[in-house]
Amino acid sequence: MPRVQPIRHLRAHDYGHLIRRWRPVARAHGLRLMPFASAGGYELYCVEPRRPHPARPWIYLSAGIHGDEVGSTEGCLEWLATTRLAPDDFNLMAFPCLNPWGIVNNMRTDAEGRDLNRTYHDDSVPQTTAHKALLSGRRFDLALALHEDYDANGIYIYEIKGRRPHWAGAMLAAAARHLPIDTRRTIEGRSSRAGIVRRKIDFDQMPLHPEAFTLHCHHAARTFTIETPSEAHLDARVAAHVAVVETAVRLCLDQPPPPQTAIYI
Ligand SMILES: [Zn+2]
Repeated sequence: MPRVQPIRHLRAHDYGHLIRRWRPVARAHGLRLMPFASAGGYELYCVEPRRPHPARPWIYLSAGIHGDEVGSTEGCLEWLATTRLAPDDFNLMAFPCLNPWGIVNNMRTDAEGRDLNRTYHDDSVPQTTAHKALLSGRRFDLALALHEDYDANGIYIYEIKGRRPHWAGAMLAAAARHLPIDTRRTIEGRSSRAGIVRRKIDFDQMPLHPEAFTLHCHHAARTFTIETPSEAHLDARVAAHVAVVETAVRLCLDQPPPPQTAIYI
């Protein structure tokens, strides 16, 4: 009889368990875990360096803005817990879970029924407003937003058009050991090739702003949104996120971008 592979991340919807697991991992990397907002009865946390390393790249990483995407929250933590990079190679600002109520209830939305990833233009939403306030004035060399997609037949990446060389191909190649690459030619109405959707920021086409717009327009030299297929085995989704993040951070360390200039569209 074929052996059934056990799932390692059985408590992926237990938010308290997630944050308890973050604490020692953050500490080991010289990072502090700070609450920055509360919503739906839960604290939202941010992770940042206790003492930033001068002249080292700044990395932004977020997960769990959609609560039915636990491969993202588990992948985010698993990457930091297992990375082979040294803690002082980079500065990390991470958001372990931007929608705790959603994670606990396995819902895309928050407790008020909002898709938080469509509210970054709206200053009346407490969680995203607090998130934007925390990011104010900060610049990152690389920003990664981790997600999952029920319609996906493999992993894919949104790469906002901009800096070359493009990195999404190398990021997907690293994940291909764990998951197939999404084969669709059209994803969410945009053309896709080999799992890569290269998009421009188009405020007219997307008046409800996702997190990635804010990151690209105000904070990050490169912004990627990574999507794993929700119905694949959870461990494979986690492993794919880990591989993508590790590859992107290594590319960032190997090829630091030129001095930062503001990018406004
Ligand atoms: Zn999502």
